[in-house]
Amino acid sequence: MVKNKPVYSFEEADSKKRMLLGGKGAGLSEMTRLKLPVPVGFTITTEVCTKYYDKNKKLPKDVMPAVMKNIAKMEKKTGKKWNSIKNPLLVSVRSGAATSMPGMMDTILNLGLNEKTVEGLAEQTKNPRFSWDSYRRFIQLFGKVVFGVKDEKFDYILDEVKKKQGIQDDSKLNVESLKTIVLEYKKICEKHTKRKFPDTPDEQLVLAIEAVFKSWMGERAIVYREKNNITKDIANGTAVNIVAMVFGNMGDDSATGVVFTRNGHNGKKEMEGEYLINAQGEDVVAGVRTGKSIELLKKDMPKLYKELSIACKKLEKHFKEPQDIEFTIEQGKFYLLQTRTAKMSAGALVKTSVDMVREKLIDKNRALTRIPAQQLEALLHRTMDESKIKDFKQLAKGIAASPGAASGIVVFDVNKAIELGNTGKKIILVRKETKPEDVPAFFSSEGILTSLGGKSSHAAIVSRGMGKPCIVGCPELKIDYDKNIGMANGMTIKEGDTITIDGSEGTVFIGQIPTIEPKVTKDFEQILDWSQKIKTLGIRANADTPDGAVLARKFGAKGIGLCRTERMFNGSDRINLFVEMIMAENIEERSKILKKLGQLQKSDFIEILKAMEGYEVTIRLLDPPLHEFLPNPEELVEKIQKLKAIGSANEADQAEIVLKRAKELAEINPMMGHRGVRVGITYPEIYEMQIRAVFEALVELTKKKVKAHPQIMIPQISSIAELNHIKKTYDIIKKETEKKHKMKLKINFGTMIEVVRAALTAEELASTAEFFSFGTNDLTQGTFSFSREDVEGKFLPEYMEKELLERNPFQSIDVTGVGSLIKMGIAAGRGVRPNMEVGICGEHGGDPSSIKFCHGEGLTYVSASPHRIPIAIVAAAQAAIEQPKKVRKSRK
Ligand code: PEP
Ligand code: MG
Repeated sequence: MVKNKPVYSFEEADSKKRMLLGGKGAGLSEMTRLKLPVPVGFTITTEVCTKYYDKNKKLPKDVMPAVMKNIAKMEKKTGKKWNSIKNPLLVSVRSGAATSMPGMMDTILNLGLNEKTVEGLAEQTKNPRFSWDSYRRFIQLFGKVVFGVKDEKFDYILDEVKKKQGIQDDSKLNVESLKTIVLEYKKICEKHTKRKFPDTPDEQLVLAIEAVFKSWMGERAIVYREKNNITKDIANGTAVNIVAMVFGNMGDDSATGVVFTRNGHNGKKEMEGEYLINAQGEDVVAGVRTGKSIELLKKDMPKLYKELSIACKKLEKHFKEPQDIEFTIEQGKFYLLQTRTAKMSAGALVKTSVDMVREKLIDKNRALTRIPAQQLEALLHRTMDESKIKDFKQLAKGIAASPGAASGIVVFDVNKAIELGNTGKKIILVRKETKPEDVPAFFSSEGILTSLGGKSSHAAIVSRGMGKPCIVGCPELKIDYDKNIGMANGMTIKEGDTITIDGSEGTVFIGQIPTIEPKVTKDFEQILDWSQKIKTLGIRANADTPDGAVLARKFGAKGIGLCRTERMFNGSDRINLFVEMIMAENIEERSKILKKLGQLQKSDFIEILKAMEGYEVTIRLLDPPLHEFLPNPEELVEKIQKLKAIGSANEADQAEIVLKRAKELAEINPMMGHRGVRVGITYPEIYEMQIRAVFEALVELTKKKVKAHPQIMIPQISSIAELNHIKKTYDIIKKETEKKHKMKLKINFGTMIEVVRAALTAEELASTAEFFSFGTNDLTQGTFSFSREDVEGKFLPEYMEKELLERNPFQSIDVTGVGSLIKMGIAAGRGVRPNMEVGICGEHGGDPSSIKFCHGEGLTYVSASPHRIPIAIVAAAQAAIEQPKKVRKSRK
């Protein structure tokens, strides 16, 4: 294998090597190859970053010599000189990992300035104000990124000098003031580091490169990777790009901006973005100044607008993806500083996929695989109930930055938002602007509202990527962090007040507006239709009610993979009856109550089977332990005391009886206790009632010519003996019902594989079971011996932080462990019954990467909750496209 060099210039780099060059480096080298106007530069590879950490944070010896060689090349190409007092070469030092992590790592601009070169730049540009302003910006950024000096310290000096000069606007600072600021900024850095501020560009460059590498392991980058499942195989270290500086702040013929080649919000085929005249790139990205809409550039700088549009078209055609571009205009000359695949809202991804197929830019397979299936969840988000809006006061209107409606309590403080969010409170994070270090609070919030910034600002991009509603650029909202209040249009909101934001409209309302379920757009329907045709894996739903079944079918589910019958007992008309059944003192009494419950179950089964006519409906018999239906003993004790205190002796006696039963049934470890088939064996009348209800429902539907396909499934099976025991009851009831109604009835009898022993003895089980369904929730619990109720709130986050686990195994199938049991189970089952139906019905059924695993292993179907069905359909289609060879014949 050819050894990689530590450094590649943009011309020589192979832009296909994204893992090595990072996305930014690859994009810059590809644009250079396309002869687009890119400033000269080079990339230090991600391999160097890995080595830097391997060597205990030391740069490998061959790096700086290679860097300096490339600086020399830059000198030749630009005609400028490194450390020159006449015509200095200045560079930006930019991070860039293989996958985009917007704003999560560091960048330094204007590097190469010192006491002498600042004069050189002044002479070269004939603009001392610009030169000294660049210098003070450099010291601040360098001080912050390399030395960790807080922005507030610099801001304090800036404000003091502005006061002294009697101005409010930074752009009015004169050269004298800027010189004072430079001096004071350096003092701040020197006081902080107890060393002289590094003046030679060589020294600055080494420190800057190391700082960018360090930012790979910075807290915000780590959190971002964790939350976005960016594992080492997706991005391993950051590259560092050294790029010749071009300036958008050289006067009114200069500008800087960011633009999406298509609208990132709704997917329309139009450029969308912002620019600022006489500004540096960071001003737009950080949302410090609200930019002008890109449309206005047509009027401001028509020639440059045209150049920009041509570049956009060329890039889209080349990359076959809408691009997110950063550009700078330096004294009338146009430069591209970055291109990357545009991060779009789910709606925009869907629309652009359908549009680009119509434009023949991409094919259907690409259209489907470019959409991260998980992101589609945002399309299934709620909107505000229009009919109710008039009852609420509109507080403000800003820029709609990420779609969806959300309500929650206002929190201005980032840490408080995290703290309250973790307790389950619904939060709307309200800030003037957001910075990358605020991202952890995004995860704890329902939505984000910022008074500053545009559609390309940090808050907007991050929220859109996460599929969270977001509004930015809402200047009428004045936020006072000290008082913890926000004011707009004569109204005040304080911390803890409830508001509703609509990220699709940009509107903010006081109070909680009811929301309604989303509608699937025509484009989304098209994507689902293509997916349905391509996928080979069946998609069924976990649904326990007739409404759930109707919704699941509407979303495209073909069958029910798991109907948890115990959920049917939770209705207000049933729970008391069920408790009575548990409290029954003898079998006669219990049987009487079970008869009534049987009627209710039968009518529910009829409705569910009707809603899923033509498809299999897998009905699982009672699973949870009986005490789950009784009140908690501790609460009962309290209740009894209170009842006694107020003299309600009769009620207290009743509660005592329930308490006695609850204590009898209580278990130390209920998840591994008296549940599932174990209840069915010890209280046979319960399973008898349920089996009979399914048969009776089928009889009634068959008489009405409804094509019902119920299947009966037994939970928590660990041995063939248990399964055969229940099968006997099934056989007796089947025979009785067939005789009674004089008809043949076909109801498949199968088992869940959710106990480890079941997976290990699947071959035996298959002699009786006509189908298997993997209960991956319990199977994960059993395989790890991790309590599914507790670990996610206890040690699991730390396990993931410490990289002891890459993913939460309760969310995404643990392929090596649980996956092996699944493979073993399938092979054993199909060894006995070659065409055996095998599915999964744990929460993993709606997780795209687990779905891909299931496709690869030839499962018949996955079963997911109704709202996740569209995601599952698209993920299954992606799996079929990505793993075409593994396709086995399976029922759709
Ligand atoms: C499972 O264990 O995966 C399953 C579907 O059953 P439940 O979640 O109801 O225990
Ligand atoms: Mg289970």
